[in-house]
Amino acid sequence: MLDFSIAAAADALRARKFSARELTQAHLDAIATLNPTLNAYITVTPERAIAAADAADAALAAGTAGPLAGIPLAIKDLFCTAGVRTTAASRILGTFVPPYESTVTANLLRNGAVFLGKANLDEFAMGSSNMTSAHGPVTNPWRRAGDDAALVPGGSSGGSAAAVAGHLAMGATATDTGGSIRQPASFCGIAGIKPTYGRCSRWGIVAFASSLDQAGPVARSVEDCAILLGSMAGFDPKDSTSVDVAVPDFRAACARGVKGMRIGIPREYRPDSLPAEIAALWDQGISWLRDAGAQIVDVSLPHTRYGLATYYIVAPAEASSNLARYDGVRFGARVDGQDLIDLYERTRAAGFGDEVKRRIMIGTYVLSAGYYDAYYLRAQKVRALILRDFTEAFAKVDALLTPTAPSAAFAQGDKPTDPVRMYLNDVFTVPASMAGIPGMSVPAGLDASGLPLGLQVLGKHFDEASVFAVCAELERAAGFVAKPALRA
Ligand code: GLN
Repeated sequence: MLDFSIAAAADALRARKFSARELTQAHLDAIATLNPTLNAYITVTPERAIAAADAADAALAAGTAGPLAGIPLAIKDLFCTAGVRTTAASRILGTFVPPYESTVTANLLRNGAVFLGKANLDEFAMGSSNMTSAHGPVTNPWRRAGDDAALVPGGSSGGSAAAVAGHLAMGATATDTGGSIRQPASFCGIAGIKPTYGRCSRWGIVAFASSLDQAGPVARSVEDCAILLGSMAGFDPKDSTSVDVAVPDFRAACARGVKGMRIGIPREYRPDSLPAEIAALWDQGISWLRDAGAQIVDVSLPHTRYGLATYYIVAPAEASSNLARYDGVRFGARVDGQDLIDLYERTRAAGFGDEVKRRIMIGTYVLSAGYYDAYYLRAQKVRALILRDFTEAFAKVDALLTPTAPSAAFAQGDKPTDPVRMYLNDVFTVPASMAGIPGMSVPAGLDASGLPLGLQVLGKHFDEASVFAVCAELERAAGFVAKPALRA
């Protein structure tokens, strides 16, 4: 049962081959066995899950079941879930229990999904390794061949990706501000899509950088991501940046093929430092698409090299403003002080971890009166140029193919002490975030030590359908069947 895809499980549930309760219980058992090692979940909600599964079974019997009836999912602990503690992996949220449900999770519940619990992440989604969580690091279910060292799952959606790769959930919600869906998907050998900015509502998702944050799914197949995104997406009047466009049939797009499509290969994504294995996998991906009838076109995105520097100004600036709300007064943890200012300072000093504090300091610095023009304003201008690069490229091609990340999963013990080294992990993912275009990672091969590597496909605004078409083709060609060492 645990090996089923979401697509196959939905069929099996309808054919009554097994019940939603059995499927949910199997996942809860897997969590009980493996979560102590993986730490993929911060909170597990077995009673709620079983109640939701029973409701799904009743709906299936009555013929009123939604498309996700009985499908067990993990929810990144950045989505507010009514009545269930939501931590953002930070001490500062304390025992916060939201009185409301995020729009994305409400959409999934409406369609019958079963929530198993809340998945671990980097604190406030800031990170690329899941090492910054106040609830401890997540362990990647994958190990290097012949080496027991615990590896990071990537970040920030590391718990979501590890839960799905380890078969502790059939799929998961995640969020991506600069790569947090795509990079952990790549590190954990699964698929994950960051849709177009505005495709999914941000309402009820703990904010990191509001002009970049976007929700999306991770799952073990491209089609499963298409199914989940179809439920998550849609216009929401409660989010002013949510866009009122129709949600196409993403699942149908997976079967479309790439014949006649023009696929761009951005030359700036091949720096001299790109590891040979990753360059070789990228070349392999190019051949697969060419063999499937796509036309390969060289393109240039000249402002790519400013992507990281720009992102690490804009994202902290917005974060410093968003995180001002954690004052110890309205919600979350509080450390009392002699007066109000002292209370703020003590609460924030105790509540935030080092990486979050670093971002707040960078953010307030680049927004400060003397430096605003030099950093924030200039970064906004460069952001416009990054977007223009993509617009010009998409005049010539339908989608772009790149590697997802410059490395495979690294060991928890190799955690870079220099934060800039960690930021470099996002080099291939942040430009799409800055431009607001959709991007997806699909597992495409293994490195020499047996770890998964992903390829990234980028598309035009609101053209996730083409992204799914290309990723599904890559998935078929790659025939990726390798399994992680630790899985239920
Ligand atoms: N690694 C990036 C950061 O730390 C991206 C995180 C994300 O996408 N949430 O900002």
